[in-house]
Amino acid sequence: MDARQVIEAEARYLVPTYPRPPFVLTRGEGVYLYDSEGRRYTDWVAGIAVNALGYGDPEIVATLQEAAAGLIHVSNLYHTAPHVALAEALVQHSFADRVYFANSGTEAVEAAIKFSRKWARTHFGPGKTQIVAFTGSFHGRTMGALALTAREKYQAPFRPLMPDVVFARFNDLASAEAAIGPRTAAVIVEPVQGEGGIHPADDAFLQGLRELCDRHGAALIFDEIQCGLGRTGTLWAHEPSGVRPDLMTLAKPLGGGLPIGATLVTEAIAGVIGPGDHGSTFAAGPLVTAVALRVFQRIADPAFLASVREKGEALVRRLREAQLPHVVEVRGRGLMLGLELTVSAKKVVERGYEAGLLLVNAGDTVLRLIPPLIIGQEQVDELLEKLPRILEEASG
Ligand SMILES: *Cc1c(COP(=O)(O)O)cnc(C)c1O
Repeated sequence: MDARQVIEAEARYLVPTYPRPPFVLTRGEGVYLYDSEGRRYTDWVAGIAVNALGYGDPEIVATLQEAAAGLIHVSNLYHTAPHVALAEALVQHSFADRVYFANSGTEAVEAAIKFSRKWARTHFGPGKTQIVAFTGSFHGRTMGALALTAREKYQAPFRPLMPDVVFARFNDLASAEAAIGPRTAAVIVEPVQGEGGIHPADDAFLQGLRELCDRHGAALIFDEIQCGLGRTGTLWAHEPSGVRPDLMTLAKPLGGGLPIGATLVTEAIAGVIGPGDHGSTFAAGPLVTAVALRVFQRIADPAFLASVREKGEALVRRLREAQLPHVVEVRGRGLMLGLELTVSAKKVVERGYEAGLLLVNAGDTVLRLIPPLIIGQEQVDELLEKLPRILEEASG
């Protein structure tokens, strides 16, 4: 099938949940993707903050091939080694005592909802079911996670959603204090909001949430599905705040492109969960977890994390110095950056395709930069050279 045939067949056979640009991607190498016509695109999206190590990393490919020749799936009815090794690595590098695996971000959030509700019920009785989330949040699209996602457009067609959710204002402790109370089972927050427009939570805000959760006996959940695992230049985005959550959700980059989610928990949370409380047929199979362990080891390397910090700082500096047209703010951490625009971010993304750049928006007016973490100087130079014209064209 050539590109036109693929696009026509897609329009006919797929449920149209995503609008897509008019080319077909066929291969990738490092930080570059190529379409069926041989056109090259520099990737500033990384499959939505997934492909931290880019495309075709030899070590990841070899791990995948080796694992595929062994066991791909046996279900969670049996012992296998790779998911245990991955859980051990995650526990050793985090606040957590135990890990629950899922297949996606939204499923990791669903597990966090169920675990924190059962924890609250077990220790405080049946009335403590409320979950507090924040304006600008994105936690996923299944019915529980969607209830925590503060986007009217995403929620409206699907009501009624999971009840007993309250929204407070992000980065506003007074608003959080008004919302969190004795009925609150859990508070969920992204340490850096992704889909909502790249908004880092203030350290004082996260510290205040910890205090409010302690005061009212609520579990604190950090959703690090997008901002975690090295994206912000530290292994966990919440590290600089010094706050320890009770649960943390991970997904996007963990599997090197294979689907996996994880819900990390303290012993206190894990202590209320037993056989039958939750589960998944596919989760944490030996193939995906063998690959995820290699990805995790690579990302957790302090030298790798330092390189993300340095590249992110240099990129922010250059974006600010460039005084780009129609850009009013450059914000974010590490290689999770947002450019606040006075023009349509979607138009910028479209112009980017023509210029050989894959870009993505976060809402209507934010251009989001979430490249593979292995992005280099050459790609930064290219971005800065091309952006002024792309931004001017998008204003026309
Ligand atoms: C992407 C995302 C999710 C949902 O993950 P899926 O794998 O798409 O289900 C949840 N929370 C955050 C912060 C995300 O960025």
